[in-house]
Amino acid sequence: MTERMLLLGNEAMAHGLVEAGCSVVASYPGTPASEILSGVAQWQARYQLPMHVEWAVNEKVALEIAYAASQAGLRAATAMKQVGLNVASDPFMSAAYLGVKGGFLVISADDPGPHSSQTEQDSRLMAMSAKVPVLDPDSPEQALELVKTGFELSEAFQVPVMLRPTTRVCHANQDILPGPVAPSERKALFEKNPARWAATPNFRHRLHLELEEKLARIAAWEPTAPRLFNPAATAPRAIVAAGVAASHAREVLCDLGLQDTLPLWQVVQPYPLHSGFITDILEKYDDILILEETAGVMELQLADRYRVKGKCSGFVPAVGELSPEKIAGIIAAFAGIPVEEPPVPPAGGGRRPTLCPGCPHRASFYAIKKAAPKGIYPSDIGCYTLGTNLGGVDTVLCMGAAVSQAAGFYQAYKLGGEVPDIVATIGDSTFFHAGIPPLIDAVVQDARFVLVILDNATTAMTGNQPTPALGWGAGGVPTATVDMEGVVKACGVKFCKTGRPGDLPAFTALVKEAVSFARTEGLAVVIARQPCVVDRTFKGERPPRRKVGISDDCNGCRYCVDQFECPALVYDEEQKRVVVDTLICTDCGVCIDVCPRMAIEEVGQ
Ligand code: SF4
Ligand code: SF4
Repeated sequence: MTERMLLLGNEAMAHGLVEAGCSVVASYPGTPASEILSGVAQWQARYQLPMHVEWAVNEKVALEIAYAASQAGLRAATAMKQVGLNVASDPFMSAAYLGVKGGFLVISADDPGPHSSQTEQDSRLMAMSAKVPVLDPDSPEQALELVKTGFELSEAFQVPVMLRPTTRVCHANQDILPGPVAPSERKALFEKNPARWAATPNFRHRLHLELEEKLARIAAWEPTAPRLFNPAATAPRAIVAAGVAASHAREVLCDLGLQDTLPLWQVVQPYPLHSGFITDILEKYDDILILEETAGVMELQLADRYRVKGKCSGFVPAVGELSPEKIAGIIAAFAGIPVEEPPVPPAGGGRRPTLCPGCPHRASFYAIKKAAPKGIYPSDIGCYTLGTNLGGVDTVLCMGAAVSQAAGFYQAYKLGGEVPDIVATIGDSTFFHAGIPPLIDAVVQDARFVLVILDNATTAMTGNQPTPALGWGAGGVPTATVDMEGVVKACGVKFCKTGRPGDLPAFTALVKEAVSFARTEGLAVVIARQPCVVDRTFKGERPPRRKVGISDDCNGCRYCVDQFECPALVYDEEQKRVVVDTLICTDCGVCIDVCPRMAIEEVGQ
């Protein structure tokens, strides 16, 4: 017996997974998808379900673990953000050919905007490229339902299915009545079939043909057929919308008084678009507006440049989220009616994003700049990307790229001229995710740089999920651990030393030692180990607190504000000097070693 609940979109999808009898779920955290797996762990505990739920080391591993469970006949799922799907793209593409046995759902959450991603890429395009059907929910409630539909589709046609929510679905809350949950009765049973599961190129050709046949049948599967929102509307033009854009379009039609005249079709399966639907709307309408995020996936399949208006045609912006205001303007222009310009909100004061007060990464970047002031600083994906504002981050490409880019800079400079100091930074979780293969490569190729692993004992940016070094997994269950120093040394690194960045003088000396080693001997790794200041899951010992105050020696030079940028150090325009904002100061005491006039001093508690 279930009851109505106010659920986050990610929690709703998690509930859909347990309702559908999904037995194995694996994920790597990434906004906006992170709460899907923690939601599954929460429901698993609540309903006492026999499931395997894990934070995997990266998205490729997560997908492969879940896929194997599907090959063994269980329902399985993996969840990730859209750039995570890039990491998992290799098994994703191949799994489409091999097909599945138990239902297999790949949830890839997109981030139009983007709010917290490197790209605005559309996972539906990746699904199209892999020839995997994709479902596009407009709300948390529909996302929950489409999880169950996705498993039915997957098992009916023996294919992986993608569910593609966007940030507005993942992070919206909705009052939902979830369905009943019961433990899955299935037991894993892998039936050997090398011609399929270990297919050679000859068999792959046949599997590709089978996949094309499946797609043709999926394009006529009734449960995912497009629906007309307003059947009474009979204009010679129509809107076709998917995902959150469909939800906005419904509201906008009513606001503009067009709900009885302008037909609105909602598509939940943008790929493969239903073939009968394509024929029907091209026969019925002279003018078709496509509303979808973020690329023109449905528009590409309609392939009528003269009647179809969308992202490819330039009628709908190709970049950014489709907000209700934007959609109102687009629909009004399509319908040929005037629309009032939305009021422009007053510009907020705002401040640029920065690391938290007391964040150990701030001390690490400060030490790196002291140790290698003219260095090149490749960095990586994580909250430490905010080190850009501190001048400690020169490049950010993708997970793990800090290590390979540091090696690439070294090899490029070595070809001629003087090699500069190169100090790369990577987070602990990112190191385990994608930093190990490039570290091995750098050792083998004798690339000489310093790698600082910013080990704050958590995956901080996505909500403090565990890393392989911590000894606990999804839902807090105990796990084995992997020793970071041991991994670094096993990669062949000769210099591997650990320090605490909050002890700024000692840590700066350690980074200088590493820089000197890299100049003459080879690759050096420094592990900057200090827990994340806002991680409530951290159970170990924290560094001693040192309450600080500003003495009369402060001459208002702003060095600490500009070079260290702790938000708790505030320049007071009236006093023309710095003061400590005691509401947000965490008493880390690191700034004591920053002021050149020693005007920041420890004071009693
Ligand atoms: S505390 Fe020190 S560094 Fe900061 S403004 Fe005052 S004198 Fe300058
Ligand atoms: S002690 Fe200094 S560096 Fe630490 S949070 Fe307070 S003001 Fe910031």
